[in-house]
Amino acid sequence: MSTRNVAGTGCAVDNGNSAVVQQLLDQLGAAERESIEHELARLAFQDPLTGLANRTLFMQRLTGACNRAAADGASLAVLFIDLDNFKRVNDSLGHACGDQVLLEVGARLRTCLRAGDLAARLGGDEFTVLIETVDDPSAILAIAERIAQHLREPVELQGRPFFVGASIGVVIGKADADSPAELLRKADVAMYRSKTSGKGRWSVYGVSDIAQSAALLPRLELESDLRMALQRNELNVHYQPIVALSTGEIRAVEALLRWEHPHRGFVPPSEFIPMAEESGLIVELGQWVFDEASRQLMAWERALPARRHLTMCVNLSPRQFQHPGLVDDIARSIARSGVDPRRVSLEITESLMVQDPGLAVVSLRALRDLGLQLAVDDFGTGYSGLRYLRDFPVNTLKIDRVFVAGIDQDAYNSAIVRSVVALAGALGLRVTAEGIETEAERQHVLELGCYGGQGYLFGRPVSADGFAQLLTNKDALALRSCA
Ligand code: C2E
Ligand code: MG
Ligand code: MG
Repeated sequence: MSTRNVAGTGCAVDNGNSAVVQQLLDQLGAAERESIEHELARLAFQDPLTGLANRTLFMQRLTGACNRAAADGASLAVLFIDLDNFKRVNDSLGHACGDQVLLEVGARLRTCLRAGDLAARLGGDEFTVLIETVDDPSAILAIAERIAQHLREPVELQGRPFFVGASIGVVIGKADADSPAELLRKADVAMYRSKTSGKGRWSVYGVSDIAQSAALLPRLELESDLRMALQRNELNVHYQPIVALSTGEIRAVEALLRWEHPHRGFVPPSEFIPMAEESGLIVELGQWVFDEASRQLMAWERALPARRHLTMCVNLSPRQFQHPGLVDDIARSIARSGVDPRRVSLEITESLMVQDPGLAVVSLRALRDLGLQLAVDDFGTGYSGLRYLRDFPVNTLKIDRVFVAGIDQDAYNSAIVRSVVALAGALGLRVTAEGIETEAERQHVLELGCYGGQGYLFGRPVSADGFAQLLTNKDALALRSCA
């Protein structure tokens, strides 16, 4: 019996009819053949009811994740989810209602996960989730808690609310210690503990209940604190200059969100932005930053009329693109503040282009049509490859600081930046180098053809007042020195 690859998935499928299928495919035109191959791949790897991955795909991805994790010593997590009252629905309301519940559970699971996590239906009312990279175990517990919460919400069946609920088992494993089957078994054991100790909850394999809640507490607290932070005025925006490398003149400014927690003090964005992304709160926060930054740009323009050409750069998280109201919200904000959209640049990441290129292109074109500029942030650290750039309506590439640090003594990074600049030139894009800390780095990236520069050498992120001062003092100096 032969096996073959299906539709670029790299996965071998053998359904027992390969020879016949191959013969049929050979007789078809290319377009028909492609669509049939896609359909075969879908059937082989997707649960037909919920559209989630099926057991085959889940085990394949789990095996791949275990191999990768064993190679680099990373951890991964598996969640095993079993519905609590599914049998009652099926027995009392019939299979059509049962299917409706499974569909709804599939949809809710999707909303709880981050890009890159995989949800599957193993069969019946059993679902699993694979999280391939675990940097922070409490993030996994937060996901388990979120799933438990979402599945606690009633499903409407025949016009009445019905409580389904789920028991969840979590295993966070070092892949070199456990085989895929063993990880799944441990997650199942933990799920069983949830069932026997009250249902509707999650348990972690090998961890006592007390240790469990202690581990999750700080993160849950921080997450709920972040929800309150906006109302309590704990958030503000700092501004960092972006200069024209040849003159040192401040051409643009990046708005960077800051959180001053009442007890913990300054919480870095690297800690709270991912949390806000996971919980969806970033939609609200990102819009607030956009409003605030536009308002601030208008205020500087009024106070310093000579600085009319300044561009405001605002970060946009990939998660904000999943919010259907994104473009309308931004259009309304522009109308409210009266800001010139050509003076605002939205910084997006490469991951956005990779995760959902179709959605990204449509939203980015709509934003460009509003008159906004678009920049790719941290360029070189994602996996977009260069081909994406052709299809996306961006104006600027911001080369990540990992390539810039010590570039004057690093031939490899120097070669990378040189080719990025050449490519950008061919596509009509400008290049800004991030994280310039020394004069030698500035000289070097300028010689390689970068147009803009950002980094501690020119100024750290500062408050709005601090930045206004920088605009009046330092920039005047830069202008004088070039005159
Ligand atoms: P980013 O957008 O790439 O912003 C630049 C980051 O590099 C800032 O870190 C900045 O302080 C830091 N930086 C600038 N120059 C230098 C330098 O010379 N050396 C070094 N070591 N670092 C430098 P920050 O403010 O901690 O922000 C980190 C990331 O958090 C940002 O990276 C961005 O991805 C995210 N972020 C910040 N504010 C927002 C926001 O309002 N929305 C979203 N979605 N993300 C945000
Ligand atoms: Mg940025
Ligand atoms: Mg950046």
